[in-house]
Amino acid sequence: MNGTKKVAFYTLGCKLNFSETSTIARGFSEEGFERVEFNEKAQIYVINTCSVTENADKRFKSIVKQAQKANPDAFVIAVGCYAQLKPQELADVDGVDLVLGATEKFKVTSYLNELLDAEPKSPGQSGIIHSCEIEEADFYVGSYSIGDRTRAFLKVQDGCDYKCTYCTIPLARGISRSDTLQNVLQNAAEISEKGIKEIVLTGVNIGDYGKGEFGNKKHEHTFFELCEALDEVPGIERLRISSIEPNLLKNETIDFVAQSRTFVPHFHIPLQSGSNDLLKLMRRRYLKELYIDRVHRIKSIMPHACIGVDVIVGFPGETEERFLETYHFLNELDISYLHVFTYSERDNTVAAEMEQVVPMKVRQKRSKMLRGLSAKKRRAFYESQLGTNRTVLFEGENKEGYIHGFTENYVKVKAPWNPELVNTLHEIMLESIDEDGLVRFQFRNEQAAISDSLERLFEQ
Ligand code: SF4
Repeated sequence: MNGTKKVAFYTLGCKLNFSETSTIARGFSEEGFERVEFNEKAQIYVINTCSVTENADKRFKSIVKQAQKANPDAFVIAVGCYAQLKPQELADVDGVDLVLGATEKFKVTSYLNELLDAEPKSPGQSGIIHSCEIEEADFYVGSYSIGDRTRAFLKVQDGCDYKCTYCTIPLARGISRSDTLQNVLQNAAEISEKGIKEIVLTGVNIGDYGKGEFGNKKHEHTFFELCEALDEVPGIERLRISSIEPNLLKNETIDFVAQSRTFVPHFHIPLQSGSNDLLKLMRRRYLKELYIDRVHRIKSIMPHACIGVDVIVGFPGETEERFLETYHFLNELDISYLHVFTYSERDNTVAAEMEQVVPMKVRQKRSKMLRGLSAKKRRAFYESQLGTNRTVLFEGENKEGYIHGFTENYVKVKAPWNPELVNTLHEIMLESIDEDGLVRFQFRNEQAAISDSLERLFEQ
C-alpha cells in the first residue's frame, strides 16, 4: 500500500458495537491509517455487524456493495456479533475478504499482512475466516466511543450469563465479564478531559457489572460501587445508565441516583412482556410485580424521572389475551416511552422451536399498537414536565435550522440553530410542545436568554 493508508468503518447495532468500533479504529490509527467516511475511497473497509438487525443478511450485503463501489480493489473485513454467529455465511458474500470472530476482532490489524499476501480472490471464492468457539471469549477489552462531540459511550461490561430463550447475544459475545474499576475511572477521566459533557455507561448486562471470575482475577466491585466511584470523577458533568435489567436495578442504586451529583434521572429498563406466563416462557428473571415495584420506587423519590421500557411483541404463545395484558399493564404504568421490538426467530435459540407461533401480520399489528401507546406515553410525560426547570445539553447537528438537546430527564428540546450552543449545558424552563413533538423552552441564564431573544427576533 503506497501513500496514506485509509480505513473506513460501518457499525450496525447497539452502543456497545459503536464503542468497540472506536477501539478497533484506534488500533488502525496506531498502524498509520487515516480514518475516512464509508463512502470515500479506502484500502480497508471494516463492517461491525449485529445479529439483532432486521434482515441482517440483506443489510450486510448492501453495505459490502457500498464499499466495493467506493473502491473495487479494497479489502472488506467483517467483525461483530453476526460474524461470530455465522462466519461462513458472511465469508461467502461476494466481496468479503476476511471474517473475524469475537476473540479476533480487536486484533484485526495483525491480520493485515495475511490479507495483503493472499492471492486475489477469484469469483465465488470465500473470504478467510478466523473464528473461535464463544467459550474462548473470556477476556475483556475496554472501549469507549465519542458520538457527536457531546456524548460518549463507555463500555463497562460485556457478555451475558442469562439464558433468555429468544436471545443470541450470549452465543455472540460470551460470558459476562467486566472492566476493572480502575480502567473505567481512567477512561471516564480521559473522556471528560476531551471536553465531553455526558457519558453513557454501556454493556450487554451492566447490572451484572463485577460479577464472575475471568482470566486469573476475581472482580471485587459491584455496579453500585462503580456508580459511586464514577460520581467522584472530577470534570464529568453527566452520567447516564443505558439500560439495566429490573432484577439488577437495586434500591441502593435508585436511591443513589436520586442524590447523585452526576447521574441523571433516566432509567431504561427492559420489560419484554406484561404477562407473567410469557416472562416465564422467555426465561426472564422477574415477574411483572417486581417491575411495578421498580417503577414505583423510582417515581416515589424522583417524580420527574424518565423511564424507558423495552418490550417484545409476537413472542410464541402471545395470545390476544396475553398481548392485551401487556398493553394494559404498560398503559397503567407511570413510564415515559417504549422501545418496541417485533419478535423474529433466531437460529439456535429455544424460542425458535416453540409452538403457538404468532403470525407475522399479527406481530406487526401489535407492534403498531404499542408504538402508538409509546407516542401517547411520551407526550404525557413531556406535558407533565412543562413549566419545570431543567438543564439541557445541546447537540452538534444543525437539524433543518434547529439545534436539539436533551434534558437530564431525557426530554428532547429544540431551539433555532446557534453553533455557540453546541456541547454546552444550560438552565432552561420547559415551555410548550411543538407540532413535531419536541419541547420549546426559555433560557434561565441571562446571556443565553439575550442570544435566544435575538434568534427569535430574526425568526420573525
Ligand atoms: S439478559 Fe437476556 S436478553 Fe439480555 S443479553 Fe442476556 S440473555 Fe440476552
